[in-house]
Amino acid sequence: MTGTARSHAKGFKPEAKKHLGQHFLHDGGIIAMIVQAVDPKPGDHLVEIGPGQGAITFPLLDRHGELTVIEFDRDLIFPLTDGARAHGTLEVIHRDVLTVDFTALANEDKIRLVGNLPYNLSSPILFHALDHAAVIRDMHFMLQKEVVDRMAAGPGSKVFGRLSVMLQAYCQVIALFDVPPGAFRPPPKVDSAVVRMIPHAPDKIGIVDHALFARVVRDAFGQRRKTLRNALSQVCDGAAIEAAGLRPDARAEQIEVADFVRLANALAASGA
Ligand code: SAM
Repeated sequence: MTGTARSHAKGFKPEAKKHLGQHFLHDGGIIAMIVQAVDPKPGDHLVEIGPGQGAITFPLLDRHGELTVIEFDRDLIFPLTDGARAHGTLEVIHRDVLTVDFTALANEDKIRLVGNLPYNLSSPILFHALDHAAVIRDMHFMLQKEVVDRMAAGPGSKVFGRLSVMLQAYCQVIALFDVPPGAFRPPPKVDSAVVRMIPHAPDKIGIVDHALFARVVRDAFGQRRKTLRNALSQVCDGAAIEAAGLRPDARAEQIEVADFVRLANALAASGA
């Protein structure tokens, strides 16, 4: 049988592709917990990133009746479309998710993103979603536990860093539950966790210059041990940090997310 013919055969399960971060969920209890966490309501526009062999897709379809999925692996498109028939209406977008315009996809309604993400692409996917935060109601993602810990960390934690600040400035981040490697085939080498992110209302974000905010956060955490005055020397001086109500000798890992926003806005106002 040729590759394409094989992928069109009923019940065919292609082998997991490492370069696409494929680890397929098979633990029914964990799948049920994800569906429960998403808790779809009539009228919700659900969009799943990386449906794979349908582990979350089909149970979500059973519950909700319709779903849009974005899958990059062409070998999975036919099994998904074919398998979905028994469960509900599936719209399959065969694309790299990083090229999908969520704003166009959302149309009038906000979308709800779901996905057991390919771990090699988790940061780019998170930041791509943030670019479209205005049209996203919430996100439920399976990621490496270590990444979820960093995303949800607060000041004073060892893992509080650039990812924590960049995500929490735009979203509420809630770590929901951990998932062991044995829940997947093949098992990943690391523990996983499911996280919920709810984008803040645009007026709550309050960042004046998004590029400057990103630069301040990047530089502040660029050299964690440095004081703010030294770490931010390319962007501002100690007086500007003080004028924003922060101590120039503080370190980035002690600073609240709202204080980073205030500092970047003060710098934007002073023309930095
Ligand atoms: N949701 C399935 C599950 O839980 O069993 C599969 C999850 S697997 C960790 C990640 C999925 O993302 C795979 O199906 C993979 O083919 C897909 N994927 C990888 N890179 C992608 C990309 N750039 N765009 C869309 N899907 C991608």
